Amino acid sequence: MATLKDLRGDQPTWCPGCGHFSIMAGIQKAIIQLGYDPHEVAIISGIGCSGKVSEYVRTNGFHTIHGRSLPVAQGVKMGNPALKVIASGGDGDGYGIGVGHFVHASRRNIDMTYIVMDNNIYGLTKGQTSPRSDHGFVTTTTKDGNKEYPVDPIATSVANGATFVAQGFAGDIKQMTEIIRRAIEHSGFSHVNIYSPCVTFNKVNTYDFYKERLTPIAAPFDDRDKALATIREYDGLVTGVIYEEKRDDFQRKLNVDFDMQSCVSGTMDDDLFRKIEK
Ligand code: SF4
Ligand code: MG
Repeated sequence: MATLKDLRGDQPTWCPGCGHFSIMAGIQKAIIQLGYDPHEVAIISGIGCSGKVSEYVRTNGFHTIHGRSLPVAQGVKMGNPALKVIASGGDGDGYGIGVGHFVHASRRNIDMTYIVMDNNIYGLTKGQTSPRSDHGFVTTTTKDGNKEYPVDPIATSVANGATFVAQGFAGDIKQMTEIIRRAIEHSGFSHVNIYSPCVTFNKVNTYDFYKERLTPIAAPFDDRDKALATIREYDGLVTGVIYEEKRDDFQRKLNVDFDMQSCVSGTMDDDLFRKIEK
């Protein structure tokens, strides 16, 4: 069982006050609460300020290329099903260049967790409009205001078959930790979008902005239409576990017998690929 000291990796270089600090702490606390050792967890990250999380939390880790944390994470889980796999990245990484992987991971339902640190902007590259920036949002790339409308992340994963969909806020670490813990415990693909203010470049979507607007949802729906209607009713500004369903995950559907010994020796691979090919 890990302690906070065990899970501390490199010293974070995020700007003071960045929401990503709380999310990193939420991931660490959830791992501790679930009683995992660092070697039992793998964090696979994308590119962006958020991508550093795989270096700042000391577990197995892989800092991948832009938008590709999900295919790598799914491969890690298929290769070593004993690992608890968490993919993490930002809104630009996951809902821009990686959005195709996000949709397919949602419908595929591999047993893993995807945490998106959503700050409605590209932070690492100094504040450009992202796929999550609001209509009218002004940045260096949209001087007259954003002409596009933002991707709706939790509606997208609900609509495309994810079996666990939740949303948190970096300003509420207690609720966020509980959500992350439940997402890791869930058997299947769990998507957690977390509003994570970029205090340096986004002066609109601030902690106060979200504190004034977010509405907690008491219980998860097991009906996709009701979940979607609620997300629309609140214009996406909800927190909590929005949708949860019990369904066999991808590996169980393949009836793969997960034997760590055969994983390690490599003897499982041929059987696994034969089943995938069928
Ligand atoms: Fe956080 Fe923004 Fe600083 Fe990046 S630029 S570390 S997202 S506050
Ligand atoms: Mg971002």
